[in-house]
Amino acid sequence: MAAADDWVARTAAQVQTEGERRYPGEVPTCASGISPSGPVHLGNLRELMTPHLIADEVRRNGAPCRHILSWDDYDRLRRVPAGVPDSFNEYVGRPLTGVPDPCGEHENYAEHFKDPLREALDLLGIQVTEISQTEMYTSGAYTDQIVLAMRRRADIGAVLARYRTRRAEPDADDEDDPKAAVYYPFRPYCATCGRDDTIVTAFDDDTTEITYICGCGAVVGPVPIAEVAGKLAWKVDWPMRWAYEHVTFEPAGNDHASPGSSFTVGEELVKKIFGGEIPVHFGYAFVGSSGGSSKMSGSRGGAPTPLDALEIFEPALLRWLYDRRRPEKSITIAFNAEVIRTYDEWDALSQRVAEGTAEQGDYANYVRASSTSDGPLPGTPRPLRFSTLASVADITAGDQTQMLRIVRDLTADDPVDSLDEVRPRLDCAQAWVTKYVPPADRTRVREAPDTTRLAALTESERDAIKLLVNGMGDDWSLAGLTTLLYGIPKLQAGLPITAKPTRELSKAQRTWFILLYELLLVGQDTGPRLPTLLLALGQDKVRSLLAPG
Ligand SMILES: [Zn+2]
Ligand SMILES: [Zn+2]
Repeated sequence: MAAADDWVARTAAQVQTEGERRYPGEVPTCASGISPSGPVHLGNLRELMTPHLIADEVRRNGAPCRHILSWDDYDRLRRVPAGVPDSFNEYVGRPLTGVPDPCGEHENYAEHFKDPLREALDLLGIQVTEISQTEMYTSGAYTDQIVLAMRRRADIGAVLARYRTRRAEPDADDEDDPKAAVYYPFRPYCATCGRDDTIVTAFDDDTTEITYICGCGAVVGPVPIAEVAGKLAWKVDWPMRWAYEHVTFEPAGNDHASPGSSFTVGEELVKKIFGGEIPVHFGYAFVGSSGGSSKMSGSRGGAPTPLDALEIFEPALLRWLYDRRRPEKSITIAFNAEVIRTYDEWDALSQRVAEGTAEQGDYANYVRASSTSDGPLPGTPRPLRFSTLASVADITAGDQTQMLRIVRDLTADDPVDSLDEVRPRLDCAQAWVTKYVPPADRTRVREAPDTTRLAALTESERDAIKLLVNGMGDDWSLAGLTTLLYGIPKLQAGLPITAKPTRELSKAQRTWFILLYELLLVGQDTGPRLPTLLLALGQDKVRSLLAPG
């Protein structure tokens, strides 16, 4: 199959040629940046997934490529997110790594929010080189760049001012907005209180000594800036790192890619101040979700996290939800009944790939989703339909022995030996039923027969039930029950069980199925596919509900 010509293939080719032109002989670098200031949600995953797909495409082409994840863990805590105690308000203004861990199991606040993302990246096969900005800043790695930026503060201030005046509304949260008449691109973390409620009052270009005051009353300096904790303003810090890390490709959310945004400002600063070029870049659109649940870990903070999604979606499928969309298209990840359709689409694509009938673009997306340059991602060895597994999990309330019995009956031709063969999909289905299916839509099997309805059965209904109860044991399998259930209205019409369907027949089948749902389930005239439902209930239970006594 010819190589795909899509955004991944084109960007990867660009990264290879641009990387070679800019930094000859070096491994090209793709970059992601994440601020661990709260739960990292599914939208942020696009910040990782996009460079991953590009870097991995380069590697698939046989060349090395580096994917760095810059943790913006030296950023100030701006506000306390939902789910974190209000008492953390006293740490606002401190670097994220200087705030205690909310749960007590991590080194600090930043690590608390990094860990779940690391776990998700591992499951998704996304390998990154992590760079902690705290480590970079506190080790002195950026001292030359900081001194350079401070000496060129007037030039930097002029660039920022030019773009700032174009904005209609000043951003109250924008740390780049100067507090003092003279602009300094470096903001110290106060040596006394640890917060960045500081104003630089002087910088000596020759001695590189800095003086600042803090809202807590501290007056510090002049001291060598190399000995002062602090960081460059975001819009200066970003282009500094493009140059420092030799970044060839870095996308960002659409809000950073609009005119006057961080990219525009960064492009000027990296060229004028830091001696580099703006990376190959584009903006990517929003990732939203629908049909969430109060039981999601991220929900207290609003959006679901990658781990929430991985509870419901196999890793390859989640990758596919990102890789099949062009960056400028938004993505909605549904946690409601849509999940079944998503799995069915994925299975249909897998089928087309196996048969060799997938279109080129679909094939490329499938390969990128289900494998990395290191090889295939672990999947479900026997991927039974998600809706079937959801029914099984629902009807059995997750009972392992019962689930294995049903799954065996469902696969009578080549029986599943162990539930591990249907994992992780079975676990995904079970989590979905438990957390996202509304109680009213769950399958509730009758405990006792509906004697009122049974007493009111018509002659024809009674006859149909007799045909089912007497015949179901002859071929107690998915195929056998399917033939029998659809065949009973045919037999009643005096036709052979193999008769071709007609409109008349399908009407009779629908009425017949509704009767069965009513007799088997509580308050429902629809439910899991009837052959699956019967297998799940077992012959004794079916007989006790349909023909008691
Ligand atoms: Zn923690
Ligand atoms: Zn202070």
